[in-house]
Amino acid sequence: MEGAMPNFVIECPPVVALPVAGTAARFPVRRVYCIGRNYAAHAIEMGHDPDREDPFFFQKNPDNLDPSGRFPYPPMSGDVHHEAEMAVMLKSGGRNIPVDRALECVFGYAPALDMTRRDLQGEQKKLGRPWEIGKAFEGSAPVGPIHPAAEIGHPDQGRIGLSVNGEVRQEGDLNQMIWKVPEQIAYLSEYYELAAGDVILSGTPSGVAAVARGDVMEVTIAGLETLRVAVV
Ligand code: MN
Repeated sequence: MEGAMPNFVIECPPVVALPVAGTAARFPVRRVYCIGRNYAAHAIEMGHDPDREDPFFFQKNPDNLDPSGRFPYPPMSGDVHHEAEMAVMLKSGGRNIPVDRALECVFGYAPALDMTRRDLQGEQKKLGRPWEIGKAFEGSAPVGPIHPAAEIGHPDQGRIGLSVNGEVRQEGDLNQMIWKVPEQIAYLSEYYELAAGDVILSGTPSGVAAVARGDVMEVTIAGLETLRVAVV
């Protein structure tokens, strides 16, 4: 086996692979796209107009996805927020995917968190700079087991919520997404070539707030396993 390996000059970084519910199989990750302000009530709480303007996306790194159930409080921030989101995992992709064929690309769905260094994001926004420092850091996307669409279908309604230490903080319904999952896929595919292994975080309902070490976050999405994450 070793003889067949390519001749890399350093040790090959590990492939990020996420658990699939109920099996030992794993989903390998290629890219991570995240949509911003995709629930009206959250757009309003962040000080924006909830009108249906074009969606916008930012990216996290594949190895920011973390299925361990532990969120290490990141450095250089004193205001780290939870954003409960449904993650969409693609099994195929392409360019210019029509909305009515977009769901054919979906492998499955998982509960996830878009953890955000809100203070750093706010500074970057003010300066007109990119958001990466607030969004794409180690462990910034805790994720639960993936439920294949072949088993659960394509969730487009039902409760999405987040509690911290048992107290409900975020609450919404998947049907409140401004841009629905097929529209997100179609839109992204106009700008990027999507492919198997891509992950889309589909936005968060209102109620985002800060966490502290010792907190336990729970993301519940109708039809998916609950994601429990300890802030350590
Ligand atoms: Mn988000």
